[in-house]
Amino acid sequence: MANIRFEALKMAFSHELVENRKPKAESGERVKDYFAQDVFTREKMKEYIAQDVLDQLFDDVDNGRTIRRDIAGMVAIGIRKWAIEHGATHFTHWFQPLTGGTAEKHDAFFTLDKSGALIEEFSGDSLYQQEPDASSFPSGGIRNTFEARGYSAWDSSSPVFLIGDTLCIPTVFVAYTGEALDYKTPLLRSTAALCHAAQEVCTYFDKQVRHVHVNLGWEQEYFLVDESLYEARPDLLLTGRTLMGHNSAKSQQLEDHYFGAIPARVLSFMRELEYEALKAGIPVRTRHNEVAPNQFELAPMYEDVNLANDHNLLVMSIMERVAERHHFRVLLHEKPYAGVNGSGKHCNWSMQTNTGINLLAPGKNPYQNLQFITFLVNVLMAVQRHNGLLKASIVSATNEHRLGANEAPPAVISVFLGKQITAVLDKLEHASAEQAIIINAKKEMKLGVANIPEILLDNTDRNRTSPFAFTGNRFEFRAVGSSANCGAAMLALNAAVAEQLMLFKEEVDKRIEQGEAKERVLFDVIKKYIVACKAIRFDGNGYSDEWKAEAAKRGLDCETSVPLVIDRYLAPESIKMFGYTGVLNEAELHSRSEVKWETYTKKLQIESRVMGDLVVNHVLPAAKRYQTMLLQNVVAVKQVFSAEEVASLNAMDYSIIRQIEHHSGAIIAGVDKMTEARHQANRQPDERSKAIAYHDNVLPLMADIRGHADALELIVDDELWTLPKYRELLFIH
Ligand code: ADP
Ligand code: MG
Repeated sequence: MANIRFEALKMAFSHELVENRKPKAESGERVKDYFAQDVFTREKMKEYIAQDVLDQLFDDVDNGRTIRRDIAGMVAIGIRKWAIEHGATHFTHWFQPLTGGTAEKHDAFFTLDKSGALIEEFSGDSLYQQEPDASSFPSGGIRNTFEARGYSAWDSSSPVFLIGDTLCIPTVFVAYTGEALDYKTPLLRSTAALCHAAQEVCTYFDKQVRHVHVNLGWEQEYFLVDESLYEARPDLLLTGRTLMGHNSAKSQQLEDHYFGAIPARVLSFMRELEYEALKAGIPVRTRHNEVAPNQFELAPMYEDVNLANDHNLLVMSIMERVAERHHFRVLLHEKPYAGVNGSGKHCNWSMQTNTGINLLAPGKNPYQNLQFITFLVNVLMAVQRHNGLLKASIVSATNEHRLGANEAPPAVISVFLGKQITAVLDKLEHASAEQAIIINAKKEMKLGVANIPEILLDNTDRNRTSPFAFTGNRFEFRAVGSSANCGAAMLALNAAVAEQLMLFKEEVDKRIEQGEAKERVLFDVIKKYIVACKAIRFDGNGYSDEWKAEAAKRGLDCETSVPLVIDRYLAPESIKMFGYTGVLNEAELHSRSEVKWETYTKKLQIESRVMGDLVVNHVLPAAKRYQTMLLQNVVAVKQVFSAEEVASLNAMDYSIIRQIEHHSGAIIAGVDKMTEARHQANRQPDERSKAIAYHDNVLPLMADIRGHADALELIVDDELWTLPKYRELLFIH
């Protein structure tokens, strides 16, 4: 009988290099020739749409106003012309449901007129608004299936683009009653709130600032695995991660993968991926190996947070498509392999003024530096106040395996600042206003003690154990999971910082109104904040046990159970903050938490079922077959040798036979217990209790079963084992 593992290995070794993109140097192609080729950019719009219409459109977009319907109608005509000229036959509203990923519903560009003749059509209404069947997406009880009335509407701040023969229109997805059913809507709201709050604070330092942009630069980590091996692993196929598998003798101990050469098949995949991404207007720049074997990273140049997030979602789907062409599968799961580093999506976040100043970078003059310190300290305050919520924004059934597993995101959110910035804050804390602020005769301000312009930002001063790190001119939120929609984390961060800046502004304004000098008030309040936000600052080892104890003492959120962390969305301070900033109302927060719990439960339910099938259909049969072979051998030996000889000859066989018996028995009992735990969990009355039951009662049993299955993998004859092993999944490309 054929062993599917060996069939898969044979196939994996026979996959040839697919080289459909030559290195740039050989092909002579230049990025500028195809960058954004599939995007209807502002530049291209000028060829297809009348100037006065465009002026109105851009003015509305740039000022965050809704597009007028008549304008949408005229824009639609231009879009259709461009799309059809470029081979499009269909269009789709492209949106970001709470399930994760993106959703599409394709419609053809034509319709039939009264006489039955075919006419090409794409109206303003099709661009502006559509009604996907909202009932088929999770809404956490905002609607039930009887009132499936939600609509998607064009997000005109993100350009339309082509994927193959389909025109994709980035849209928000909302219920008819106005509640957001997606990630994009609250991300846009949070960005608007932050832009507004930050712009107001900027006026203390520079009256010229009219607008503040929020930037996101993501770094996407992922694993590649050969498609044949992937297909021979039902767990990878159905859950995105391996539910069992003994560690490979060689794993990442040598850390030789990180700086190693990229294998040829992978490099070829990367070239095509970059080409496709660049054509879609995604400014990808870096590619490299990651720490774990077969793990890689892709990062673009940062962009406006909404566009960057669209681009990240798009890149994830491009990756999957391109990987298939190269006989790979891309694993975006946060922890595809136990005991091997998982994948994250570092979110580099900053704010920048329309005058070109990065608000999170030390500046050239004292005013800019005081401004920098102001924003830095306000971010610290926001992260401290909402550290539990920020954790909630990144947790999921998949990221759970990465959290606290001695990887970038420990389960406690803290901020790393580095030596120099810490020194500046310490100095300011202990300075008097007179020492700190010297106003000379020309009414120029100087920051006496801190001497911030001299801060030499040492980029090697990095702490990889911190979930939220200052890296010289931005914060890097490292706890975000590789498969996540970064919008969830970004909207929580934006909203928290917006609230904090609003509170800051209120406090400062009040004191200025009472007659105090602006510089002095700013200094006073910042000094107060520096003291108040000490709990969140931590530059030490985030993985250590001492830190866990210390964090609890500091009052930081130390909850590790994902279903309980999700509660933070509904904490009074979260509800208040999201309401104050207008990002999410209470009903929306309830619905989001419900969806998070429901998704958590479903993922674990599937994993637990797949695990049951795997051990029953793969592991136990192989173990039993091997045990039978050994037993037959024992019987045969007995017929040939004397009793004393048999005892010593069979010592090893006996031991393995017993071990197989022990582990198989434990697996069978474990599967029974797990099935019962699942049934009990399914009977819980609400989504939260279900998720808690899965976390508390099902997950630990899965770990037990896995332990026994992995033990069997070590002792069973390799020839009989049917699941591709870690050493094969991780090292073959
Ligand atoms: P690392 O050293 O962390 O691997 P890179 O230099 O490759 O990082 O940058 C990672 C990401 O950070 C990129 O997407 C980059 O565009 C982004 N980035 C750089 N500066 C900023 C900034 N000021 N704001 C937001 N993102 C930024
Ligand atoms: Mg980084």
